[in-house]
Amino acid sequence: MSGKWVLRIEDKDYAATLEQLRAWVTEGRVQPQFYVFNPTLDRWAYAKEIEELKPQFLAFVQSRQRHGSSICTACGKVGNPITHTKGSIFIELVLWLCFLIPGILYSLWRMTTKEKVCRYCRKASLIPINSPQGQQILARTI
Ligand SMILES: [Zn+2]
Repeated sequence: MSGKWVLRIEDKDYAATLEQLRAWVTEGRVQPQFYVFNPTLDRWAYAKEIEELKPQFLAFVQSRQRHGSSICTACGKVGNPITHTKGSIFIELVLWLCFLIPGILYSLWRMTTKEKVCRYCRKASLIPINSPQGQQILARTI
């Protein structure tokens, strides 16, 4: 257990103790696809494949999941969706007051085009975080 752990980030190597590495993973500074040198096994491996770091990765993923139930396929952020309604309430009111039929049509259009969107990038690209694709995106972004 005397050997040093090494974290490789963009061709730079950082020596660290296992405790430091664990803290970095918990803080989200170590990404799963970073290379880590495991002195116990005397070889390099992806951070996500190192048994000693798995509990920390799991804890980090769980802390991310507390932010919401959905993940955005466009920006990779975790959050609950918000409802986006097209058009404006002002136009809707004017139409209702001046022209009843266009008002009804406009209201119908607004109602039917309502969609759940990402609160960060406003795109309708949210998927459940628990889906296989959601888990994949999460693993890529942490
Ligand atoms: Zn987004």
